[in-house]
Amino acid sequence: MSKGANELTLAEAARALRARELTVRELWDACAAAAHAKNGELNAYLELFEADGAAIDAAQKRIDEEGAAAPALCGIPLAVKDNLLIEGRVASAGSRMLENYRATYDATVIKKLKDAGALFLGRANMDEFAMGSSTEHSAFGRTLNPRDTSRVPGGSSGGSAAAVAADMAIAALGSDTGGSIRQPAALTGLVGLKPTYGAVSRSGLIAMGSSLDQIGPLAKSVGDARLLFEALRGLDPLDSTTIPEDLYPARPVPKKLRIGVPMNLLASGLDPDLKAVFDATLGKLAGAGHTVIDIGLPASEHALAAYYVVMPAEVSTNLARLDGMRYGRAARGATLLDDYVLSRTEGFGEETRRRILLGTFVLSSGYIDAYYRKAEAARVSLRYAYDGLFDRDDAAKIDVVAFPTTASPAFKFGEKSDPLSMYLEDVFTVTANLTGMPALSVPMGTVAREGKDLPVGMHFTAPHGAENVLFAAAGEVEKLAAS
Ligand code: GLN
Repeated sequence: MSKGANELTLAEAARALRARELTVRELWDACAAAAHAKNGELNAYLELFEADGAAIDAAQKRIDEEGAAAPALCGIPLAVKDNLLIEGRVASAGSRMLENYRATYDATVIKKLKDAGALFLGRANMDEFAMGSSTEHSAFGRTLNPRDTSRVPGGSSGGSAAAVAADMAIAALGSDTGGSIRQPAALTGLVGLKPTYGAVSRSGLIAMGSSLDQIGPLAKSVGDARLLFEALRGLDPLDSTTIPEDLYPARPVPKKLRIGVPMNLLASGLDPDLKAVFDATLGKLAGAGHTVIDIGLPASEHALAAYYVVMPAEVSTNLARLDGMRYGRAARGATLLDDYVLSRTEGFGEETRRRILLGTFVLSSGYIDAYYRKAEAARVSLRYAYDGLFDRDDAAKIDVVAFPTTASPAFKFGEKSDPLSMYLEDVFTVTANLTGMPALSVPMGTVAREGKDLPVGMHFTAPHGAENVLFAAAGEVEKLAAS
């Protein structure tokens, strides 16, 4: 049986559109039909948009007229995480606070995609303000993992991941502050990329932790993730932290990669079945001629602790603007103070409040030296540790660092109701956000649980600006996993 149009990869769909095997309207209809049919159960989307006939016709015309020269994204239906602004649409960030907030402008990534002719299927569910690893913190209900609906799809971009994994979109946009693209990609069998900090504009992304946040793709293949990254990246006058594409020295991709694995971090705590898949994948990489090198990364042991100080500090600062005065939920009490307290109490969920309190605490004058400044110091030492591995010319030089994206496959709903156990889900992913390095998760295989095959991901980190090396390494795993 041939694939339905909604099951195609982005690259396959782009080819089929140009070969006139498929029209933009047919592709939209196939994705929209699957989205409508499955969303009642999965809750991947908080809102499904009506077909935009003018945009569909314009994309078709462009493909007809420009053929191969039309942007790859032209006519491709995408899911968009609910913290990215689309002019005139609600952007709630999974929160009651912004339930009725309508964006007054397009995020830069949305503008770029519109200019490329991409189409938007709807707003994808997420943990409130991108805080969480399961979508259980969404104010609008959890999203189910299409690979096993008794389990979480990961988070916070769990809606985006479920939409793509269930073929309710060709690909999706997510945001990643501590793993929110890569972890849901791993748990649903997708490729997820967190670009180099500054590679993609954050203008129009509802901020979580501004020094950590990056927007990136969730996609069905490494090639698709690359196509999206190329479409999203670039300097933006609206985001002064964006970087020119040639800021970092070019890193040509070596034929044989030197892959560093911090075995010290993997010695305990990993699910044994997942560890077996990871070891087998390393074995295959070595068999294909790549070199696997055991590296020590002692600085990484402090990454999670540093993240859970820096991130809430930035969260508490970013969310201070949601005070019931400017925009968002506005409750009115007897006094001005009541207005603030009521608006924020009604608007924010429990996890959001927990992080605001934590962030306010670590920034308070009595504790900023003990916590926030220490965490920033740990962050610098992490960056040095990684730079020291990548930038050397002796036998210890490596091209990428590899470890599993998560310590276990998708977990059951309610299994991590203790906040600390949920935070531990991020142990491998946060380092790339703290250092600003690009990182990616690629499916490496599955582990069996209760008769279901649950996907697990391999995580690669590369030097700043070296997404090309990441794509090469992930491409190898993709090829070897299929063989
Ligand atoms: N799970 C992490 C957290 O809860 C990461 C979130 C994210 O990347 N947005 O903070």
